[in-house]
Amino acid sequence: MKKNLIILSALAITMASCGGGSTEKKAEPMKAPAKTSTTEEAAPAEEVPAVVEVVIEGNDQMKFNLDKIEVHEGQTVKLTLKHVGTMAVEAMGHNWTLLAQGVDMADYAAAAVAAKDNDYQPADRSADVIAHTKTIGGGDEVTIEFTAPAKGTYTYVCTFPGHYGMMNGKFIVK
Ligand code: ZN
Repeated sequence: MKKNLIILSALAITMASCGGGSTEKKAEPMKAPAKTSTTEEAAPAEEVPAVVEVVIEGNDQMKFNLDKIEVHEGQTVKLTLKHVGTMAVEAMGHNWTLLAQGVDMADYAAAAVAAKDNDYQPADRSADVIAHTKTIGGGDEVTIEFTAPAKGTYTYVCTFPGHYGMMNGKFIVK
């Protein structure tokens, strides 16, 4: 009788440990496919298209609808500025001006006020600007194309007098 009890309890321990082991094994394959699929989903996102289209809106409330635009270095950026308001260009003109790194937004905008004849872009400071649209009024839109500059964070503004404080954002090149 004693021998039988020992064998039975040994069996019970073996079965218990087997059961525990199989439970752990079942859990592992469930985690593995999840990791694999995440990797597969992330891979296509790293492919950078040659051209990126960006649409940004300005309105009669003196606001852009985006405060951040992200592109990749070397991409051709096809940027469309839409003025979704109704006010005339003389009263509520908007442009999209991408400043070179290190250019002070307020300083450039102050100079732009005096450059009405040059579409609010000071002619002697063209080196401070990477790209810009012309200034448009309500209902208009304009598209420009330029090559995304070197990686970094840049600032874009509307240089129409008094607008840069409300109308600016970050242009992030990855
Ligand atoms: Zn504006």
